Amino acid sequence: MKFGVIVCPNCKKVKGVDLSCKTTKCSRCGKALLLENLKIFYKTDSVGKLQQAIGLVNAELDGRLKEFKETLQSKN
Ligand SMILES: [Zn+2]
Repeated sequence: MKFGVIVCPNCKKVKGVDLSCKTTKCSRCGKALLLENLKIFYKTDSVGKLQQAIGLVNAELDGRLKEFKETLQSKN
């Protein structure tokens, strides 16, 4: 799997990362993050699915997962 979704432990921003890199930098708080120390919430090879997964994890953290899934289904 090439891409993953992580959550910044410092500011809780949900972020898509390239898993071939060892570190990433949070775009919100600027903290350097070591990927091996982070939980990978979702893994995929597709950029499109990565974007969808970022939305999904965001919704989950907000407690809106059910709502979000319903939105996805209504689009199909
Ligand atoms: Zn952050």
